[in-house]
Amino acid sequence: MCRAPAGYNGGMTPLILRVALPAPLPGFFDYLPPEDAAQGDCVPGCRVLVPFGRGSRIGLIVECPAESEVARERLRAVSAILDSEPLLDPAHLDFLRWAADYYHHPPGEVMSAALPLRLRKQQRALPFLIPAYRLAVSPGEALDATARAPRQRALVECFGAAQPLTRATLAAKCGDPAAPLRALLDKGVLARCELTPDQAGATVETSPGHRLNAEQAAAVSAVEEAFGGFGAFLLQGVTGSGKTEVYLRLAAGVLARGDSVMVLVPEISLTPQLQQRFAERLGGGVALLHSGLSEGGREQTWQRVRQGLLRVLLGTRSSVLYPVHRLGLVIVDEEHDSSFKQQEGFRYSARDLAVIRAQRAECPVLLGSATPSLESLRNAELGRYRLLQLRERAGGARPPRIDLLDIRDQPLKSGLSEPLLRELERTLERGEQAMVFINRRGYAPVLACYDCGWVSDCPRCDARQTVHRGSGLLWCHHCGSQRRIPHRCPGCGGSELHPLGQGTEQLEERLAAHFPDVPLIRVDRDATARKGSLQALLDRVHAADAALLVGTQMLAKGHHFPNVTLVGVVDADGGLFSADFRAPERMAQLLVQVAGRAGRGDKPGRVLIQTRHPDHPLLQTLHREGYEAFARAAMAERREAAWPPYSYQALLRAEAGRSDLPMGFLEDLVAALQDTGEVELWGPVPAPMARREGRYRAHLLVQAGRRDRLHRLLDRLMQIAPTLPGARKVRWSLDVDPIDNY
Ligand code: ADP
Ligand code: ZN
Ligand code: ZN
Repeated sequence: MCRAPAGYNGGMTPLILRVALPAPLPGFFDYLPPEDAAQGDCVPGCRVLVPFGRGSRIGLIVECPAESEVARERLRAVSAILDSEPLLDPAHLDFLRWAADYYHHPPGEVMSAALPLRLRKQQRALPFLIPAYRLAVSPGEALDATARAPRQRALVECFGAAQPLTRATLAAKCGDPAAPLRALLDKGVLARCELTPDQAGATVETSPGHRLNAEQAAAVSAVEEAFGGFGAFLLQGVTGSGKTEVYLRLAAGVLARGDSVMVLVPEISLTPQLQQRFAERLGGGVALLHSGLSEGGREQTWQRVRQGLLRVLLGTRSSVLYPVHRLGLVIVDEEHDSSFKQQEGFRYSARDLAVIRAQRAECPVLLGSATPSLESLRNAELGRYRLLQLRERAGGARPPRIDLLDIRDQPLKSGLSEPLLRELERTLERGEQAMVFINRRGYAPVLACYDCGWVSDCPRCDARQTVHRGSGLLWCHHCGSQRRIPHRCPGCGGSELHPLGQGTEQLEERLAAHFPDVPLIRVDRDATARKGSLQALLDRVHAADAALLVGTQMLAKGHHFPNVTLVGVVDADGGLFSADFRAPERMAQLLVQVAGRAGRGDKPGRVLIQTRHPDHPLLQTLHREGYEAFARAAMAERREAAWPPYSYQALLRAEAGRSDLPMGFLEDLVAALQDTGEVELWGPVPAPMARREGRYRAHLLVQAGRRDRLHRLLDRLMQIAPTLPGARKVRWSLDVDPIDNY
């Protein structure tokens, strides 16, 4: 079962085991094999327990070289080999090493990110039997026994003739099965059993979907032609154009070839709706890696994907690091979404790694979006990606009408103008649904005293604490600091404390007062913090006629609300005048996504965007000519300023409890780098939020016109930085291809 690795010295116990350890240190660690090791035991990709410092750690063998740079006498022996077969194959180890190199991140941490948490901590892998359920009575009896319990009946109907099903399959087919399962076990209609991995993954049934329209069919066949080799595709399709339908069709094709498919989606759009859509169409072979899984469940799923027992991996960004048996296609949905970038620790872009992953697996990769990132559009322009377009909404829904609403001379009620309120009224009177969107949760972003000018500053950040009426707290969204909302001004003791600006809570309050008889649902991180409550909220919306939805970007993505015909955007201006050069791109993407929520069913939709800058050129271009024209204009600005995608960047961040240390460290680094050739260094400067969680922050931006030059300098920088005297006094990190400088 175990293959002999390269560098394995035929037949004899390998001399050295090179081990990746999850430690913030560059490189690998050499060990001797355990004394009792047999020749086949020490294989790259197997986990090992090793002595490390005074304790022990779990690591992963990455290679078995004949020699070490460390003298043999100084090497310690591995305590135990934990796996009988490699968890990661050599090609995958290679991919992870590439990622560690590219992001200049300790390879041991990268490799451990490819394992499920449980296997990083627990020596013993879970026994590989999968709990399942089977009918304990005949199908007819089972139906009779559940005639009056629709959820139990739905569960029973999932079972074919005597075929056992796993809980995951049941969950995929009919939602959370916990309660009906228990009832059915109690009644004796179902019984528990256990499956071996082969049994559990045996069947993949795919059911046909819609008849594809011409553009969808063209997109599918373009990618299908590339099956079996690398090819990168950018699928640009307006919201509701049937991109997901294209993914499903391609996935079915991959399964038919006996290969696996990886589908990466943004955090926010891994909804039960999407999961169900995949499960319904692709059968029981869909592995869902969502945050609700227990550690054990995650490990089981990971194992089954690795062994090809589940052949559709649907997950968020970390899935791109996971091993997949016979990977035949990689799909990245909403490829522009910033949640594909990990913002701490190993700061990788799952979107970018997806392309490398596909390259290595020699399979196609499909990046889809209604609003592609400028990076991907540039790659399409350069011919690196082939552009596929879906220009029309599928199923006949018409695009929404979009109007800019000039609010400069409008009296506002909690941020809402008269024309918007009137339009909401009309929509609700027609028995249709409306959505009001604001990109801020809480009641108001600031609490201020009208007498003395006191504001609700966070004690630990250069930021304001947000007013949360529901919980009675002032709350910093950056560090989490909290205090009770004061009744008297902490500055002057006066009573003129007022919230300034608006958030979702305030809109909810205002709209509830204005439309007392209409069901009103707020969707934001606070309202949906409890597990499963988002689904409950969504069910309420789907069941209702007239209804109002108020929410943050959580509303903008993924969900399908066929009865929403009006979308109001409270404030479009935040993105227009930001110091971050990516802000307009994000604003445009968000507006288009939000607008895409309107009129997806058979009724036409309308979008009202409130702004104080109706004449702003980017907003005008977006409004009149759409996202593509906007992207062209924004791209011209980027080219002019030599910003990405016309250059390559890395950001070195430093922070410390004392204000002079981060700047000092970065200044020393700049001095030590001396001549940087054609690579530009900007800074160091204090970060836009110069203090956060009580720590002072600064950064240095490194930019080059060519990627190879940038990386050569980063190599040098990463060698020098740890040797500087300040390095131990600051916390520093490198962010390659940063998406913000915050
Ligand atoms: P997107 O992912 O681009 O937002 P979806 O794939 O979710 O679009 O499709 C939007 C709606 O149109 C869905 O309800 C879907 O079932 C439907 N749809 C997609 N393709 C077709 C088609 N070829 N014919 C009819 N309806 C379709
Ligand atoms: Zn005051
Ligand atoms: Zn704070």
